[in-house]
Amino acid sequence: MENYKPLRQKQQEYFRSNQTKSISFRLEALDQLRSIIKNHEQEIIDALRKDLNKSEFEAYTTEIGILLEEIKFTKKHLHKWAKPRKVKTALSHTGTKGYIYPQPYGSTLIIAPWNYPFQLAIAPLIGAISAGNCAIIKPSELTPTISALIKKMIESVFPEEYIAVVEGAVETSQALLNEPFDYLFFTGSVPVGKIVMEAASKHLTPLTLELGGKSPAIVHHDADLKLAAKRIAWGKFINAGQTCIAPDYVYVHEKVRESFISCLKEAIADLYGKQPLENRDYTRIVSEKHFNRLEEFLTSGQIAYGGKTNKEKLSIEPTVITDVNWGSPIMEDEIFGPLLPIMEYKDIDDVIAGVLNFPNPLALYLFTSDKQIEHYVLESISFGGGCINDTLYHLATPHLPFGGVGTSGMGSYHGKSSFDAFSHEKSVLKQSTVFDMPFRYPNSKDGLKWIRRFLG
Ligand code: NAD
Repeated sequence: MENYKPLRQKQQEYFRSNQTKSISFRLEALDQLRSIIKNHEQEIIDALRKDLNKSEFEAYTTEIGILLEEIKFTKKHLHKWAKPRKVKTALSHTGTKGYIYPQPYGSTLIIAPWNYPFQLAIAPLIGAISAGNCAIIKPSELTPTISALIKKMIESVFPEEYIAVVEGAVETSQALLNEPFDYLFFTGSVPVGKIVMEAASKHLTPLTLELGGKSPAIVHHDADLKLAAKRIAWGKFINAGQTCIAPDYVYVHEKVRESFISCLKEAIADLYGKQPLENRDYTRIVSEKHFNRLEEFLTSGQIAYGGKTNKEKLSIEPTVITDVNWGSPIMEDEIFGPLLPIMEYKDIDDVIAGVLNFPNPLALYLFTSDKQIEHYVLESISFGGGCINDTLYHLATPHLPFGGVGTSGMGSYHGKSSFDAFSHEKSVLKQSTVFDMPFRYPNSKDGLKWIRRFLG
């Protein structure tokens, strides 16, 4: 079995030398990260093309630009985030001062998936660096070109005792998980999330889990249908539906079902052309196994649009499927591909009951202009995050924490939340030696009387 004890210990020693903790060190590391991303931009684009046939447009927008922005935002705010914060003093603690020191955990492990293989390996690293940690990244084995490139890029500027990349599949991941890291950051599927959490429990290692689930898009009868269709088509078919927060399925009000479906068809044709399989910029499915799994769903309901596949290219058209219900195979699990089932509803309560029957979605999208409906849905359903009248956009702002709830994950990141995820808040009370309040001591006169006044 692979053994990562020496590497982890090397990082632990380096961390204990305190070098990673100064703000200037962290800022310099962020600068280095930014320059390697900028210097390897074309290589990243080429690798994403090779592993997933991502277009340059998608590669830059969703994997490169978003990281450069995140680094810029983090650098701008780091001094403020990392500073010890003074808190109020309770009456009972007169004479003391209380502080919160954000403290890096130490040696951390980041395990990444294949769907945004560059972004999802590097975005947590920005948090790890900004908080002052060391890190080992384990990229996905299903996107080998990107995995090798991440290793080459990181090794070109960072010593392995600070940041290292370990390539490999399940065994490698499990060998790493045997080690008592100080923090784990996992992005991937729900079943593997459970394995990771079990491994973490052996060492009581705190962790963030960024998982998945079935994220609904609800289209109410008062929605702007054309815009809703366009934004749903974009959010669903970007990266060929292989996005953790893609709308998994649509629930549309029966009154507007037909008009919505016709707007959706127009939107898809507009975004991907009449023959998406011939579109050079249409992302492919990551592997044959995933392709086969998705192809089986094509018999689940009626195909209202698309449905063609090209096994050689591992490509599946953006496909709309109707006549689906909660019992259909396609509704059992997260789809994670370019297939969009449509269900209809009469009463919003049926939508809420349907969604609540299943574990907490990672995202939810509601299209309506009715504030009451908006309030009702937001109050009734627990989900990681989402949008009113849009899809995916909540992920791309550093001002909103991104993460799941329940089975869609725990913890969050992006912007300050990334810094917080990789920091422990160390509470420190500084006591005065000028005087010593007597009431806490058992031999003090009237001690209990004072304590009753403060506590109770
Ligand atoms: P996955 O869980 O199969 O793999 C993720 C990582 O875990 C990979 O690096 C893999 O090598 C490793 N791994 C796989 N099996 C393992 C095991 N038994 N023990 C230890 N490690 C193991 O996920 P995936 O297929 O790469 O990604 C798709 C899933 O990720 C989807 O469910 C999607 O919703 C989710 N996802 C979530 C987010 C988010 O931010 N919440 C983002 C992207 C993807």
